[in-house]
Amino acid sequence: MQREIPKACRVSRNVGEVFVPKCGWVRFRWSRDLPAKPGMARVTLDRAGRWHVSFPAPQPAVSREPTGAVVGVDRGVRTALVTSDGQHYRAPRISDRDAGRYLALQRKLSRQAKGSRKREKTRQAMARITAKVTDRRKDWAEKASTRLVAGHDLIVFEKLNIQGMSSAPKPRPDPGRPGTFLPNRARAKAGLNKGILTSAWGTLASRAQQKAEASGCTVAYVDPRFTSQQCRACGHTAPENRDGQAVFRCVKCGHEDHADANAAKNILARGLAGQAAPARAPGHGAPRPRKTVKTAAGTTRSAA
Ligand SMILES: [Zn+2]
Repeated sequence: MQREIPKACRVSRNVGEVFVPKCGWVRFRWSRDLPAKPGMARVTLDRAGRWHVSFPAPQPAVSREPTGAVVGVDRGVRTALVTSDGQHYRAPRISDRDAGRYLALQRKLSRQAKGSRKREKTRQAMARITAKVTDRRKDWAEKASTRLVAGHDLIVFEKLNIQGMSSAPKPRPDPGRPGTFLPNRARAKAGLNKGILTSAWGTLASRAQQKAEASGCTVAYVDPRFTSQQCRACGHTAPENRDGQAVFRCVKCGHEDHADANAAKNILARGLAGQAAPARAPGHGAPRPRKTVKTAAGTTRSAA
């Protein structure tokens, strides 16, 4: 159901009202200006039990001057992002305290009967914890993508297999008792952060692309293979070039660099050499179809 004028109005500085069919007028927190021609409102309930109303609007252009500046971006596990200029962007992580609480709730959840009310309560408590980090992570991705688009005419990402990267941590077998496994708390926390990071990468790339399209800047994707093992100075590619995690030292020419910065420079070089993979390759960087927000029957509604 879509009509020209949405039934939404401002009640006060911080409060708005939107007409939701079968619900009536619903108040909401007015967090930003409405677009000039607001379309169909979208009312959603997220996993943490929070309701949101949004009005579609075209992506506004980022204010920028074409400078000819180009940048390659390496998305790593330790620092979130390293650019070919050697800039590091660290994505927000879950705090130790929240990670501990989350993992405890996860164990509790595993003991609770499926479909029970108590299990649902536990799930919501878990979702509230992740929502906190997810919100910060989204905010971070918005700011980082704006900075990338504002400062560069060409942004090169490596095509990532994001699905494969956010796999669960490996179980650790108990040496004393074959067939059983040791608790793996540190790995579980690392797994949590990895999941948060990988989704931050996806958000960052798709937001960068949307902003780039609206602002006259180009986003390209290149083949990620061996970008971390290849020497930027002489091109020699070998796993031995990675002297530990943080340092890159070429075994052939002795070139030294920060490992992720070296990778970012390789990514940029590939982008400039025109080895770009199609920007809209399915599942890579292209904005993914919005996940259907799972709600109770009839809770995802469109206001006229
Ligand atoms: Zn070299």
